[in-house]
Amino acid sequence: MTDPIRPSREDAEAAVRTLLQWAGDDPTREGLLDTPKRVVKAYGDWFAGYESNPREYLERTFQEVAGYDELIVLRDIEFESHCEHHMAPIIGRAHVGYLPAGKVVGISKLARVVESFARRFQVQEKMTAQIADSIYDVLQPLGVGVVIEASHECMTTRGVHKRGVSMVTSKMLGTFREDARTRSEFLDFIKDGRAR
Ligand SMILES: [Zn+2]
Repeated sequence: MTDPIRPSREDAEAAVRTLLQWAGDDPTREGLLDTPKRVVKAYGDWFAGYESNPREYLERTFQEVAGYDELIVLRDIEFESHCEHHMAPIIGRAHVGYLPAGKVVGISKLARVVESFARRFQVQEKMTAQIADSIYDVLQPLGVGVVIEASHECMTTRGVHKRGVSMVTSKMLGTFREDARTRSEFLDFIKDGRAR
């Protein structure tokens, strides 16, 4: 990493020690000694999205699909993200559908796109739009739909303390936006997943 605005690993670990102290604990006690190191390492996983370019996942497409021109839906893509307001986890599922215009993408790539945007500091509405927009721009299908349902730990573990509440956001583009039939077909596809 040669990003000039990125602090050193030592600085990041010192910041974790500061937060431990701010919480009221003693970062020099045995149980917490290696915690800054672990947290900084965990950040590498939780925020790996900054190291990836979701558009690249969508650039390798297939055209030999025997004329398939119906909806393609990947539902229940589990993700973990972090809210950018509290740095608290957002745990949820994304459902992604598109209507291909000749080009399709490997199905695991859609999950990778979700993962790439999830592993950043996020706002659910923004993440929903980013996933839909990148698929629409790069794959250029006739339409895209993205529905995300997630629970926000900044809401379940603090603040209003509402458990079991999930937030649902959606972004529809192209035929998903313009054609009620396409949209409802997509929503029917993902309904079974959402009923759980
Ligand atoms: Zn929050």
